[in-house]
Amino acid sequence: MERTLVLLKPDCVQRRLMGRVIGRLEDKGLNIVAMKLMRVTPELAKKHYAEHVKKDWYPELEKFITSAPLAAMIVEGPEAIRVVREMVGATNGLKAAPGTVRGDFSTSQQMNLIHASDGPESAVREIGIFFTPSEICEYTPTLRQWQHPG
Ligand code: ADP
Ligand code: MG
Repeated sequence: MERTLVLLKPDCVQRRLMGRVIGRLEDKGLNIVAMKLMRVTPELAKKHYAEHVKKDWYPELEKFITSAPLAAMIVEGPEAIRVVREMVGATNGLKAAPGTVRGDFSTSQQMNLIHASDGPESAVREIGIFFTPSEICEYTPTLRQWQHPG
């Protein structure tokens, strides 16, 4: 079982697409074990996007990600990190495959609705940035016996 950090970015909140995106994660059988609406500060943005802080487009990204609330979630499931990244699609909405969140709802390189951790190390790091252990609500999904027997 893996856990990954998902952010429904400010464009997703503003465009009223949160329900549809969360619905896709639920339909897949993934387990949401933490969730909150929050406003990202510039400090938090720099921490989360540490690998991009020096890029020339970072100031634009920070402006976007702090411009309205976002929804942060921890999503759990077998191979959840890869599975969710594939459901999210390529960074640029114009290039993301149909059937992915970005491919179906975004036409932008920046406003691409959703963030998902790109590997096990980023998942641990990013979950630690957005959630304290006491905010994680672990439970056994009753559907699991029909999805992952054994
Ligand atoms: P991903 O979210 O697919 O992992 P990156 O890690 O490359 O993509 O970039 C992080 C986020 O920064 C993207 O999701 C997007 O919102 C934004 N971004 C990426 N490239 C650009 C760019 N050239 N200009 C503005 N924003 C960008
Ligand atoms: Mg990335």
